[in-house]
Amino acid sequence: MLILNGKLVTWGSENRIMPDGWGLRIHHGVIEKIAPQDELLQAYPEDEQLDARGQFVMPGNICAHTHFYGAFSRGLGIPGTPPSCFTQILDKLWWNLDKALDEEGVRYSALVCLVDAIKHGTTTLIDHHASPNAIDGSLDVIADAVIESGLRASLCYEVTDRDGMDKAEQGIQENLRFIKRIRNGNEGDANLRAHFGLHASLTLSDDTLERSRSLCPEGIGFHIHAAEGIADQEDSLEKSGKRVVHRLAQFGILRPESILAHGVHLDEGEIERLAEAGSWLTHQPRSNMNNAVGVASIEEMLDAGVRVGMGNDGFSNTMWQEWKEAYLLHKLAHRDPQRMGGYTVMKIAIENNSALISSLFDGLRVGEISEGAAADLIFVDYLPFTPMNAGNLPWHILFGFQESMVTATIVAGRLLMFERQLLTLDESQIAAQAMEISNQTWQRFETIAGQA
Ligand SMILES: [Zn+2]
Repeated sequence: MLILNGKLVTWGSENRIMPDGWGLRIHHGVIEKIAPQDELLQAYPEDEQLDARGQFVMPGNICAHTHFYGAFSRGLGIPGTPPSCFTQILDKLWWNLDKALDEEGVRYSALVCLVDAIKHGTTTLIDHHASPNAIDGSLDVIADAVIESGLRASLCYEVTDRDGMDKAEQGIQENLRFIKRIRNGNEGDANLRAHFGLHASLTLSDDTLERSRSLCPEGIGFHIHAAEGIADQEDSLEKSGKRVVHRLAQFGILRPESILAHGVHLDEGEIERLAEAGSWLTHQPRSNMNNAVGVASIEEMLDAGVRVGMGNDGFSNTMWQEWKEAYLLHKLAHRDPQRMGGYTVMKIAIENNSALISSLFDGLRVGEISEGAAADLIFVDYLPFTPMNAGNLPWHILFGFQESMVTATIVAGRLLMFERQLLTLDESQIAAQAMEISNQTWQRFETIAGQA
């Protein structure tokens, strides 16, 4: 397939906006050739042609930490007094909503998020799943939805002791089963990967951490929340006399493939330890603000050599929105307009997220337009009215781009949306089904919340 009449934004090691008249050829899911389009048309006259109509053609966005399972929280009222701190938010909202999910709830929570991702140009997502009353097989249910959508994703089940040791063991087994499935390398699973999910230090005993480490195969990363709220540090100090990162390090959780989400309350020693381990840390400013947990020392982490990526923690799959919140939050928090510049946001959301996904997908380059890279692309209908070049592109994104401008989404060379028409998922059918299922989920939520 040829993509013609687009303005190519390459990202990658040397970001470029290609001059008009350049196109690309997609073959077997990768960008095979980037060349002047006359040359492409001459060399591949039989290829299907996709007209970008002057829009920007750029790599799809990546979300390094999300929770499909939280989708039905939208508009959900929490009974009783509103939560007054992060642990109450967990207690009153998330740990009741996840229990209310059955298999259909898991399926439709995922499907609505995948629709949202395709519409808004997020082509790869790393999910962290919980459904304590529907654990066994839940990752297959989500995987089916991901395969149907055509997106790229890594899945895991968040193991926790908070619902008893039986459920913790079921969570461990669900991760192991799914990791095994992925390692079988079935053709249909080409866009799927697996992590070993763990909830957070504060709901994990030494025994469960030790058992998870001993069973998780080499080369598979853990995916865990770390020091999101101060309670995680207090609990860790009480349990072990160590701060969260050191406790996780002790149990071998800090693999180079591992992802720690948030790290809002890390001290210098933990940041150093994280850099040394080479684990990933993901930043989710919208979630941090919503939970009022604090501001992570992201720039300090980058300076220390921590590999920082960006997720959305279950907020909408609009990653430029997350860019904007990061760009603004750190300036306000430090009352310093020099903080969190556009290049820093780009480094996190583009460079580091791409490196994270490439390492997951066996070195396949993603997040860049280059020959041999995955054909994970979006078309953006943005008409600049000030000069735009590779150097100031981050600021055009921060102040001008909207996810509603995404008109086409392509993953591994397959069109998932074109001219704003979804091609793999039926949004209205999914929304109608989800409406019914979320209603039932909300009823169970109320019962569970009433018993808590
Ligand atoms: Zn999270």
